[in-house]
Amino acid sequence: MKLQVNQSEIELVQGDITESDTDAIVNAANSQLILGAGVAGAIRSKGGPSIQEECNAIGHCPVGGAVITGGGNLKARHVVHAVGPRQGEGDEEEKLKNATLNSLKVADQNNVKSITFPAISTGIYGFPLDACARIMLTTVKEYLSGTTIIERVVFALFDDKSFKAFKDQLEKM
Ligand code: ADP
Repeated sequence: MKLQVNQSEIELVQGDITESDTDAIVNAANSQLILGAGVAGAIRSKGGPSIQEECNAIGHCPVGGAVITGGGNLKARHVVHAVGPRQGEGDEEEKLKNATLNSLKVADQNNVKSITFPAISTGIYGFPLDACARIMLTTVKEYLSGTTIIERVVFALFDDKSFKAFKDQLEKM
């Protein structure tokens, strides 16, 4: 499913983000930049040790922020590590919006023309899927309406439930 925004497009796919062949994929990271379970675990096992090594050199990223490393053995050239909020910590919507926005900005700064996001914060961090879909899709759409080199933003949704949440939201836009 796709939505055209100016010269760019938003696309939803169901599947494993580490299989994506966009220039960059986004990791649902933590502030310590330690690749643990979920999306991060899949990136670590498929991408090899260089990604964690680069994260260690960076050291830390605040909630709502995003940093970039190489993609190791992944198809993607880069991994953008976006730190989403943990449900219950407060100000979650603003933090998720910022994590999405800062990922797009760091992509633009690094000549990334295509990027794939997961549903940030909806796994271990427990943020509701519907709100995630609304915030992330609205933020991406708004960003693509401005000046950007990004041509394609993909959302890789892992299961039926997350795909449906994003599809329902995109249909409203
Ligand atoms: P967070 O800690 O930000 O909640 P998770 O990695 O636990 O991050 O989960 C974020 C979302 O990504 C969840 O909806 C989860 O189902 C999904 N997910 C887990 N593994 C993958 C994967 N390999 N590709 C795409 N999405 C994934």
